Amino acid sequence: MNLNERALAALQTCVGSEHLRYHDDARTHADPYAFGSVHRAHPGAVVMPASVDELRAVLAVAREHRLPLWTVSTGRNLGYGGASPRTDGAVVVDLQRMNRVLEVNEELGYAVVEPGVRFLDLYAHLQQHGHRMLMSVPDIGWGSPIGNALERGFGYAPLWDHSAHLCGLEVVMANGRVVRTGMGAMDGNAAWHLYKGGFGPSLDGLFQQSNLGIVTRAGVNLMRQPESVVTCHVKTASSDDVAPLVALLRPLLLDGTIQSNAIIGNATVIASMMSERPRWWSGPGAMPEHAVVAMADALGLGRWNARFGLYGHPSMTRARAAIVREALQALPGARIETREYSGDIDPAKVHPADHAQLGIPGTALVRMAAWRGGTPAHTDFSLVCPATEAHVTRQLGLIQSTVEAQGFDYAGGFTLGGRHAIALALLSFDKDNADESARVHTLFEQLIDKSVSAGYAPYRAHPAFMDRISQAYGFNDHALRDVAESIKNALDPLGILSPGKQGIWPGRPGLNKDHT
Ligand code: ADP
Repeated sequence: MNLNERALAALQTCVGSEHLRYHDDARTHADPYAFGSVHRAHPGAVVMPASVDELRAVLAVAREHRLPLWTVSTGRNLGYGGASPRTDGAVVVDLQRMNRVLEVNEELGYAVVEPGVRFLDLYAHLQQHGHRMLMSVPDIGWGSPIGNALERGFGYAPLWDHSAHLCGLEVVMANGRVVRTGMGAMDGNAAWHLYKGGFGPSLDGLFQQSNLGIVTRAGVNLMRQPESVVTCHVKTASSDDVAPLVALLRPLLLDGTIQSNAIIGNATVIASMMSERPRWWSGPGAMPEHAVVAMADALGLGRWNARFGLYGHPSMTRARAAIVREALQALPGARIETREYSGDIDPAKVHPADHAQLGIPGTALVRMAAWRGGTPAHTDFSLVCPATEAHVTRQLGLIQSTVEAQGFDYAGGFTLGGRHAIALALLSFDKDNADESARVHTLFEQLIDKSVSAGYAPYRAHPAFMDRISQAYGFNDHALRDVAESIKNALDPLGILSPGKQGIWPGRPGLNKDHT
């Protein structure tokens, strides 16, 4: 890499000196939660363009000086590396200054945003302009709808699947050309953010978890505020209840009784949203069963806890709630709490545990990283499996035993999308405790390797583990990765965009291997 004085001067010309950081000043964009001997990539510089033209100028400099870049929208991908690049010395292209809400269309239910718009900003914009719309937000709302959706993140409420609800992208390619996908490929077409297809192959997926282009605007689906929302919190009596809970909820998700995803968490992960570990247990190793039981009882938690929302006219939300209640009778000892809100309720009157289901973004759950005390840090493990009892039980056994064997508490659960489930384990640690930090690293490698041996794989990961995980997606001698690398070589022959992202590296032979 050639980040010399000339390259820095050229970058400065693109964005102005106040929007370029380098050397030690670029450490703002290193992973704040780096752990163990995980490869700590330090950005060589951070450049913050405010417009497509400034971004194109940055790309021209990168091409001329062969600078590897790393794109972030707001860089809040915390737990998965934050704004940190995959390769040491890369220039982080931080799009936080491109932060305009370009349109809100109530009639058709969408907004058009730039990458620097945060969930918090979009929500504030909707409130300020009196738009009666409901958006889907993740538990922590300081990231951006575009960055989160491109990483295949999810939220709650009916539009929870964020990548599915992006519609119509504007993308700047490595050579500086601006592309609009779907109907946006036709000048002035009013359906750009309404119909993904367009005419010909659909390219949107090429820009998700990808290093093929930089997304500079996107349509994001919103829904009209429903007349009512009923939030449901299910609490179960036994640590064995996760499989029966999945068996009960899956048909309700698949037949549309529950219109969103359902998130299921064990007592420890919910307790970490409300308290710190030393209050419950200060001994070494994973918290023992009796301490978990005492903690769950003291906080009024179930051993497993599910939450989801029901949306629509009160006659429908009440009918849906009655069906859910009846189904849950099959699970001995399970309790359900529900709260009914009108869709336009004043957010100040919403119970904090219901914010996500009502699309109200916040930052309170950052405290989960402080579970073990010390300097809070966390990383997350996210594994995909079929939403069946057998698979969920197997994943739980695999993750819990591995986490506890390394002396950590298993704080996690499943996000149930209907057909699939994503097992989540939140690994909180004290960043300044070298032993703890080293054990997180070992644990992460073990989790990946054991999962892959069992036939599962994460869908998302910290940059340091991207190659390891990409290796697992190996059907037919990594044919899919070869296709991606062939596209990479064609679109970005100098390899300037996020080299190594998801294990896709520029300059490898791609499909030019001999497979005859
Ligand atoms: P968040 O919105 O949660 O802050 P980030 O900005 O950290 O998310 O982005 C997460 C990841 O998504 C980045 O590491 C990058 O790989 C990808 N990404 C984010 N924004 C863009 C974008 N505008 N264009 C292309 N890829 C992006």
